[in-house]
Amino acid sequence: GGSASASSIKQVKLERESELRIEVGNESPLKLRLLNGSAEIFGSELAPETWLTFPPRVKFAVFTWYGATIEMDGATETDYTADETPMVSYVNVHAVLEGRRNRAKASSPNDSEASQGPRVIVVGPTDSGKSTLSRMLLSWAAKQGWKPTFVDLDIGQGSITVPGCIAATPIELPIDPVEGIPLEMPLVYFYGHTTPSNNVDLYKTLVNELAQMLETQFSRNAESRAAGMVINTMGWIEGTGYELLLQAIDTFKANVVLVLGQEKLFSMLKAVAKSKPNVDVVKLQKSGGVVSRNAKFRQKARGYRIREYFYGLTNDLSPHSNIANFSDLLVYRIGGGPQAPRSALPIGADPVANPLRVTPVNIDRDLLHMVLSVSYAKEPDQILTSNVAGFIYITDIDIQRKKITYLAPSAGELPSKYLIMGTLTWLET
Ligand code: ADP
Repeated sequence: GGSASASSIKQVKLERESELRIEVGNESPLKLRLLNGSAEIFGSELAPETWLTFPPRVKFAVFTWYGATIEMDGATETDYTADETPMVSYVNVHAVLEGRRNRAKASSPNDSEASQGPRVIVVGPTDSGKSTLSRMLLSWAAKQGWKPTFVDLDIGQGSITVPGCIAATPIELPIDPVEGIPLEMPLVYFYGHTTPSNNVDLYKTLVNELAQMLETQFSRNAESRAAGMVINTMGWIEGTGYELLLQAIDTFKANVVLVLGQEKLFSMLKAVAKSKPNVDVVKLQKSGGVVSRNAKFRQKARGYRIREYFYGLTNDLSPHSNIANFSDLLVYRIGGGPQAPRSALPIGADPVANPLRVTPVNIDRDLLHMVLSVSYAKEPDQILTSNVAGFIYITDIDIQRKKITYLAPSAGELPSKYLIMGTLTWLET
């Protein structure tokens, strides 16, 4: 910790196997470059002498295996050097995965079992470094020419698309330390809420759909199959959260479970795996560099993520404001419909709404500031199980003229008129 340092150029010499941990200040970006030696940011190597600009609030580490000198220009909230890191144990995991990928690649593609590379799932409490470890494993694999599939089940702080979604995407190059994961061709399912407890059945359904879809893609693509998956999960590990973890392990047929920073979770999963001889459960140390983010910070981060979807990380995208008639758009909601009061139901009837029922939503002022997804469904009865093309943001509802104004990534017609509403909102700032 410490007070913000003045904006100035600063050089830091890193000894082998140490890292420079940085929290960029809240107001201004930070420029950084590798002066000499070699270094990486979460598994992605830095090009020599090339300035990178990190936006405000980003937290990261520059790690070196053999020593490096780093130059920084700008104010940081914190920056310090640490020589105790779990990186050696992480890279050892990578080496084991690498061996499995090579074995998968060498076996006959007709042997669906043997030609399947590692399916790794990373689990642990919030702020244990799950996303970061996932990223490293993906970048190290991509550096060696694999195209592993990244699956992100974290609806709160996912790294593939806006919050409230589960998604998957192939990683073809080490992940850019600034830009993150390219948004070109993700497979996205819209859950619509940022906590799984809103609709656990829906969450499970979507996890299942995503897994089936990937299974189909893998069956046609030996290269992806051999490279395998890295699955990032939510930090919810108690009660229903734990059940959801078990479901994810089974549904994605994970064969390597990496448990970060929690002894109890490790021993529970280890016990479960006794009956599953193909599943290895491995305990890994949490990095001392992982920064805890409080609820307020997370909430804000979700807003920035939505902003990034429409405007780009550096305002490099220009979203388009569109106007449509109420009758042009069909908005649906999944589950959670207004429940009939018990008194209105026949005696003995269950007042709980069907969590998977898809119901049309009347367009009114309640839609203002909502982020809706644009479904690939062709019929309403496909909405529940379809993935989504993208998102729109409702900026105005004119009840009198029956007009709706929304922001979309581009001009022109939406890929579908079926929109899904959840509880995901955003206040554009
Ligand atoms: P989780 O996915 O378990 O919630 P993350 O991997 O997102 O945790 O890590 C939490 C935060 O800590 C992120 O902002 C991440 O960039 C940061 N972080 C992780 N490892 C380090 C490190 N070694 N040094 C500095 N910051 C780190």
